[in-house]
Amino acid sequence: MFFDAPDFDAHESVHVAHDAASGLKTIIAIHSTHLGPAAGGVRHWAYADDAAALTDALRLSRGMSYKNAMAGLPMGGGKAVVLNDAPKTDAMLEAFGAVIEGLGGRYVTAEDVGMSDRDMTVIARRTAHVSGLPVSGNRPVGGNPGPWTAQGVFVGLRAAVAHKLGRHDLSGVHVAVQGVGSVGGALARKLAAAGARLTLADIDAARAAALAAELGAAHVPVEGITRVAADVFSPNALGAVLDAETIAALNVAVVAGAANNQLAAAGDGARIAARGILYAPDYVINAGGIINVVAEYLGGSSIETVSQQIAAIEGRLADIFVAADRGGQPTDAVADAMARRLIGR
Ligand code: NAD
Repeated sequence: MFFDAPDFDAHESVHVAHDAASGLKTIIAIHSTHLGPAAGGVRHWAYADDAAALTDALRLSRGMSYKNAMAGLPMGGGKAVVLNDAPKTDAMLEAFGAVIEGLGGRYVTAEDVGMSDRDMTVIARRTAHVSGLPVSGNRPVGGNPGPWTAQGVFVGLRAAVAHKLGRHDLSGVHVAVQGVGSVGGALARKLAAAGARLTLADIDAARAAALAAELGAAHVPVEGITRVAADVFSPNALGAVLDAETIAALNVAVVAGAANNQLAAAGDGARIAARGILYAPDYVINAGGIINVVAEYLGGSSIETVSQQIAAIEGRLADIFVAADRGGQPTDAVADAMARRLIGR
């Protein structure tokens, strides 16, 4: 029921904790500490049942091992989920901080879905092993990771366009952007500044319309965005957006965006490759945020060194694309194999 669970991947440890006073229920999965302490955010989410929460923690923590290794960070992979069975209070966040502290630094937390940088400051009352705190005088890097993630997606998208279309600047390149929130909004602004032509969509239609007006872009209803005829589809909203149906309908040469777990099922990477579309593996292109979070945690970095680390995403993706062409393999399979080698699996 556990060691033979489909998403169990020789995780080093999984911790389940409960605090009766605050109602905290949390699962912390440590996939690998081969390269360093396990780093990955904490998600506050309403799960259908405990098994779904465990599955999420197992899957997300393995993804963090891959992401941190491929970003060249001295960190392993972990992830925490806090069940949304009781309201998120400061008492619950402090209890969560105490659980993290009890792990003695094997796991380092930060914000994920349902958590804010303010929440991280509450967790920090009880543990030193937390990052993603607001930027302050003595902490030049940190804060909202969204703009840093957008910076990495921008250079990664540029690498994909160069490889697939042989174009070395984005002027006139048409990008269909799904989701214009923290990352997608910042990315759209960078793309517009680089001269790209944009089509935007967001379930918050007013948000997409306002940004489209600001940037001189087009906007379409959410149902249509995966079918827009463009050079690039950039998913920056939900996971599992690339499945057999959406892949068959894609009308682009490149898929490059920030969303986590874009491929709905094993085999979807091969499906994209079979259509002649170049896919930028999600955990490689969207590492800008974790690069900034880890720089904050380890200390001693400047905005310039963080920017340099994020700029390296461009060359890393170019190497993956070349290796995929050479081996006749899908890009996600090439990246997975590289990541597993780095974590000693
Ligand atoms: P966000 O909540 O700020 O923005 C998401 C946007 O997508 C919102 O504007 C939302 O209205 C929109 N949206 C939701 N469902 C949609 C749909 N079906 N169609 C179109 N739009 C939809 O989140 P974010 O921080 O920008 O993150 C976006 C994605 O990138 C997520 O998958 C996240 O896991 C991933 N990611 C984010 C970071 C980061 O630093 N924030 C880092 C790595 C990966």
